[in-house]
Amino acid sequence: MIRLALLLAFLCVALGAAPAVARPIEGVPVLMYHKVDPHTPPGPVGRSLTLEPAAFEAQLAWLRTHAIRTMTMNDLADALKRGEHPRNAVVLTFDDGYSDAAEVVTPLLRKYGARASFYISAGFVGDGRHASWAQLRTMRAAGMEIGCHGTHHLDLTHLSRTGAAREAGGCVVALSRYLSPPTTYAYAAGRWNASIADLMRRLGMKAALTERPGAVTSFAAPYALPRRRIDRSAGLASFAALATP
Ligand SMILES: [Zn+2]
Repeated sequence: MIRLALLLAFLCVALGAAPAVARPIEGVPVLMYHKVDPHTPPGPVGRSLTLEPAAFEAQLAWLRTHAIRTMTMNDLADALKRGEHPRNAVVLTFDDGYSDAAEVVTPLLRKYGARASFYISAGFVGDGRHASWAQLRTMRAAGMEIGCHGTHHLDLTHLSRTGAAREAGGCVVALSRYLSPPTTYAYAAGRWNASIADLMRRLGMKAALTERPGAVTSFAAPYALPRRRIDRSAGLASFAALATP
């Protein structure tokens, strides 16, 4: 049996053929968070979307212990475009841009030398519950990516073609004006279709994120990339599984 395997390997080399064993490509998990806040909101949905700061810090410590680096979605998109497949990497994303993004999440990320992508709905910036433009500028200066999550957090698939262009485009225009041109998008409610993907391309986005579970293993469909949700109930063991391909 061993002789046969050696003979086959020799024939492969001799004939210049690639070995029949496919080289596994490691994916990059893109993790989806919402809030990290010591104040737990009432109601089951708000509660499940809010992590205790200590739990989030334990996750950052776990990543550091296991030498898993954090990269922004923009950087992952660039790497994949170049044909690279980063290993031992993860993308942390935070949706909705609540004030805790600036006040709790960013200081913890900085403490661990980590980076993340924050997806904000431009129409809510600075309304008292959400981070202000000044806070978003400070976050960006600390190496964080600020991407688009719509103007009023609307499901693009529920809108007319013009409505979707206004909802998504309004965010791109506002960020370009008050911050810097965004390069990636996270769909509110996670939904998209072929015409929404085309809209993303026309808006100049490099990539867009859904809520379809999975790790990013290719850039074949850059406007339908998967993400894994991290909620309050995720203990460190389940976080470890979600943060590795
Ligand atoms: Zn959202």
